[in-house]
Order: sequence, then C-alpha cells, then structure tokens
Amino acid sequence: MQCPCGCGHIIELLVIDEAHPRWDYSVNASGLPSLQPSVWRNSGCRSHFWLRKGRIQWV
Ligand SMILES: [Zn+2]
Repeated sequence: MQCPCGCGHIIELLVIDEAHPRWDYSVNASGLPSLQPSVWRNSGCRSHFWLRKGRIQWV
C-alpha cells in the first residue's frame, strides 16, 4: 500500500503467519479492509495510523 500521508512511500505489510512483525488483514461484508494492529513507520515520514473499514485513522 502507499503511505496515506502523501509522501509516496510504499509500505509493505506482511500478513503471512510466519512473518514478524505481521498484520492481520480482514475485509468486512461491505468489502472494506481493516488492519490490526496499527501501522507505524519508524523511518521517513513516521506515519502512525490505523486502517479500519477502509478508512485511515491517524494516531
Ligand atoms: Zn508518509
């Protein structure tokens, strides 16, 4: 996914069971994706946000 702050950075999230850290990715009945836990870049723009039901929630 592309960083939602607009910096253009591509964030790669690992959702396979063996990966650490990893994220749980789910899509609800309306097709809206959610991520668990929050995404926090530790470099660059240092964005910290949640993806819940297809919407970005900044921390
Ligand atoms: Zn960014």
